[in-house]
Amino acid sequence: MQKGTINVQTENILPIIKRYLYSDQEIFLRELISNAVDATQKLRTLSAKGITQGDLGDVTIQVSLDQEGRTLTIADRGIGMTAEEVQKYITEVAFSSAQEFVEKYDDANAVIGHFGLGFYSAFMVADKVEIKTLSYQEGATAAHWTNEGGVEYTLEEGDKAERGTEIILHINEDGEEYLKSSRISELLNKYCRFLPVPIQFGTRDEAVPKAADADTDSDNDAEQEMETIQVPNVVNDNDPIWTKHPNDLTDEDYRAFYRLLYPMEPAPLFWIHLNVDHPFQLTGILYFPVIKSNNFEVRKDRIHLYSNQVFVTDHVEEIVPDFLMLLHGVIDSPDIPLNVSRSYLQSDPEVKKINKYITRKVADKLDETFRKDRELFENNWENIGALIKYGMLTNEKFYDKAMKFCLFEDTNDKKYTYEELKEATKNSQTDKDSNLVQLYSTNLEEQFSYVRSATDAGYTVLKMDVMLDPHLMGSLENKKSEMRFKRVDADTLDKLIEKDETIESVLTEDQQKSVQELFTGVVSSEGAVVTVQALSPSEQPVLITKNEFMRRMKDMSNIGGANPYGEMPEMYNVVVNANHPVVSQLAGAGEHNDKTAEQLFSLALLQQNMLKGEALTNFINRSLDFMAKK
Ligand code: ADP
Repeated sequence: MQKGTINVQTENILPIIKRYLYSDQEIFLRELISNAVDATQKLRTLSAKGITQGDLGDVTIQVSLDQEGRTLTIADRGIGMTAEEVQKYITEVAFSSAQEFVEKYDDANAVIGHFGLGFYSAFMVADKVEIKTLSYQEGATAAHWTNEGGVEYTLEEGDKAERGTEIILHINEDGEEYLKSSRISELLNKYCRFLPVPIQFGTRDEAVPKAADADTDSDNDAEQEMETIQVPNVVNDNDPIWTKHPNDLTDEDYRAFYRLLYPMEPAPLFWIHLNVDHPFQLTGILYFPVIKSNNFEVRKDRIHLYSNQVFVTDHVEEIVPDFLMLLHGVIDSPDIPLNVSRSYLQSDPEVKKINKYITRKVADKLDETFRKDRELFENNWENIGALIKYGMLTNEKFYDKAMKFCLFEDTNDKKYTYEELKEATKNSQTDKDSNLVQLYSTNLEEQFSYVRSATDAGYTVLKMDVMLDPHLMGSLENKKSEMRFKRVDADTLDKLIEKDETIESVLTEDQQKSVQELFTGVVSSEGAVVTVQALSPSEQPVLITKNEFMRRMKDMSNIGGANPYGEMPEMYNVVVNANHPVVSQLAGAGEHNDKTAEQLFSLALLQQNMLKGEALTNFINRSLDFMAKK
């Protein structure tokens, strides 16, 4: 038997590891199982190259608990180690990498990933660790290494008869929870679900048809008897679909995988299979989930990051652009540096490339779906629109691509691309100064009468009712400067889209003046300017208009954040339509003018949903009076 002392300068390395990693103790299991998987993969490689002879046999990795003996064992059928290798890899190499880890990451916040720490993370939960191993090499003798949590270890000949390595953890008080089978199951499910080597944790019950008895009649229609048998509880899927070629997969495969990852969620709309070898390696599947446009409570843990099928994290902020956080799915890349801090990750050139690649792929996929299946795209616009708009506003590259498939919907549910919209409206909605004006409504119900007069006049009115719309319109106006967006109630139609032809007023100038004075007396709001204009007789007699700039600032402020305009009282102006028959009548008549004017003004307020409280009651009473007089 060999006794030894691990490099004594760092006598207290194990306590340090324990302290630094305490918050993320559970990763020890991932580390040990990753080692077992690596050892198995190495053996598979040797076998494929013909370096080892014979069948590899069952290479399932066994995880087992002994509650009484207080041990957790991870046993693989991989490459194994000779005593020399244990000496070299475990006491020298691994120890020095553990040491390096502690030296490098003296900032506890920087501790993520932990790859490369490996084997020694076992001491976070165990007082004593044993390795029993037998190398695959012919004539190798088994080795048995024991360490009681200090710098001293023993290495002696072992009795292991089968190829492979067993790591036995004698769980300490800190690690009590790891003696619970439910906790181990949970961890295996979290970290090992898609590892490429089968992992078995005990057995589970399975109901199977009872084996047919030789004596019984096989034609017997009687119900098949069932029996419960014990089957190996294999916890992982060795070939998750993202590792396969898209040509070998059906839509149902993608949907089934989605159900597996997010059992509670409705089926995804569509997905992108990522697959790149150069200049970095990345595979994965990103799904477009069903999202409600105004629900921006983005859950940032819906994309899982793997490295060679080992789960790493579900916080992928630096790797996936912000607007794509709405997506779900899996990314697998051995090229993402894992054992570094987040701020470093942000500036890592490799990560930047990956981020760009993902953005491009998503844009391409949307473009393709739009071109190939416009109906599907349009039907799902409510779901994907928010993501696309968010992407356009936050990502230049995406903006340029998305201009081709970002859709604008009018009040009749017809959808246009930017170019189509331009085409459809340029003849009727270009004003006398050659501006192409787009009318929009943020609320069809509240702005109903304005929308109706605009559509009656043959104009297209867009629905701009999700919270990013004001920002999107602003950016389109700035970038393209071809269109001006005006909310349909911002002014009278003739003013919104000013044409050369002017409508003659049926009132004389004196009459206009008296009408103007009449209404100024009735309008109570301070700062509201009353004008009399010659509009089409089919327009409302009195209109409330709201300045487009102020409106939009207010709309934007609804998204949250500090916006001084959000606090402003509603400002408006009043336009009296000189050509409406009721107004003409008013100009001619003498009595009851005030009351009629008040009534007309109230109707205008009512249309804007601005008639409230006492004013509303007065309006109702006046209306009843009018009727009683008839
Ligand atoms: P890393 O895995 O990052 O190299 P570890 O500390 O986890 O660091 O392991 C150190 C080395 O010990 C491994 O590189 C490997 O050579 C050896 N080793 C660890 N576990 C096993 C195992 N189950 N089977 C064979 N070799 C192993």
